Amino acid sequence: MNIILFGPPGAGKGTQAAKLVEEYKLPHLSTGNIFRAAIKNETPVGLKAKSYIDAGELVPDQVVVDIVAEALEDDIYANGCIFDGFPRTVFQAESLDKILEKHGTGDAQVIALTVPEEELIRRVLSRGEGRSDDTEEGIKNRLAVYQKETAPVLAHYANRGQAKIIEGTGDVNDIFNRIKAVLS
Ligand code: ADP
Repeated sequence: MNIILFGPPGAGKGTQAAKLVEEYKLPHLSTGNIFRAAIKNETPVGLKAKSYIDAGELVPDQVVVDIVAEALEDDIYANGCIFDGFPRTVFQAESLDKILEKHGTGDAQVIALTVPEEELIRRVLSRGEGRSDDTEEGIKNRLAVYQKETAPVLAHYANRGQAKIIEGTGDVNDIFNRIKAVLS
């Protein structure tokens, strides 16, 4: 079983991913977390990613796809995965289709969380994780990048009936129940 948590920054992908991990006993793969760890450890991937992340831009597709493809070789993903923050471009989505086909863990079910823009900005600025990209300018830029490059990914999945839209406002547990209700 593969689940993609989809939505703009601040939509609650990480929060719901943690709950899904517990419920479905699947591993969590967050490309943002992978990059932040790589930057902290000053690895070659981290050095490549840092300037993009600080600018609120997307890390180049091939860098992202390579780290995801490599990560998914690990046995912990043998039954599938909960993807968070990936795929973020149509190229990444098409690459993931091929990777999942190769692993035979099933098509991804996409959960798209919708939250009004003012609320997204409020959440990101108040989440206090100390992230260098969680500034007012940073979030505004990421939202613009989301609209331009990431929003079209939803159509890629919706066209094949793989996407469910879930309202991402209100109580965290209510949102989680909405998600569980649409997963098969
Ligand atoms: P948020 O959802 O708040 O933007 P993430 O942790 O998902 O947080 O991503 C933080 C940053 O990491 C992004 O702004 C981008 O620079 C980079 N990043 C994460 N995932 C991807 C991806 N799939 N493709 C390109 N860049 C990515």
